[in-house]
Amino acid sequence: EELRQRQSEFVGNAAHELRTPLTSIRGFAELLAEDDFADPATSRHCAAVIEKESARMERLITGLLELAHLDSRDMRQKIEKEPVEAGRIVTAAADALAGKAQKKSQQLNVRIETDAKLLAREDLFQEIIQNLLDNAVKYTPEGGKIAVSCEEKDSIIEIEVQDNGIGIAPEHLPYIFDRFYRVDKARARQSGGNGIGLSLVKFLVKLFEGKISVESEVGKGTRFIVRFPEIS
Ligand code: ADP
Repeated sequence: EELRQRQSEFVGNAAHELRTPLTSIRGFAELLAEDDFADPATSRHCAAVIEKESARMERLITGLLELAHLDSRDMRQKIEKEPVEAGRIVTAAADALAGKAQKKSQQLNVRIETDAKLLAREDLFQEIIQNLLDNAVKYTPEGGKIAVSCEEKDSIIEIEVQDNGIGIAPEHLPYIFDRFYRVDKARARQSGGNGIGLSLVKFLVKLFEGKISVESEVGKGTRFIVRFPEIS
């Protein structure tokens, strides 16, 4: 009964999230038709909104497909894990986000203190770190600081992603890993958020036998910590 309840909630949420951008795509297409492309400025504005909103739908659908794909038992069994050097991938993830951080004049510090390996799949492991860094950039104002580190303690690889951004209030913290959950829908929407990122992160961390935790304070910043068993 509970599973059915959750499934129907999921479908309801997904449909709602898809309908919102679709409504504005339709509205702006109608506006274009009514105006008959007479005013170039209006036409350009309409086209820009349609492009932005369809990109948003595409991101959401891509995220949902990836979740569904990973979720199938078949797929989970098919994922071949191999030894992955955590520090190297953390550096690659930071490199991938460097441009985005720079655009917001944010400092992005990387500290790698171990060459330890975990059992994972390289691209999916990188996706975990990249998602956390992407959020750090998104939810930290211009000029803020982001730090990512990778170290090893007692055969546990510990990766921290820390920012001094807007933070998350305690009442929201338990839900941030849920699908579609966003603390501030308007703000998340503006930054292109759809509430799928952290649910993917949580799923992938579990797939590689890891644990994730989060500490946050509103106005001070957020720190995500992921831990994985080291392999020898
Ligand atoms: P989104 O695509 O909306 O970013 P996520 O699943 O990645 O979705 O994150 C869920 C919510 O958690 C976000 O909408 C945001 O409110 C909050 N959040 C995630 N990371 C951070 C962070 N580093 N700082 C502040 N809030 C965050």
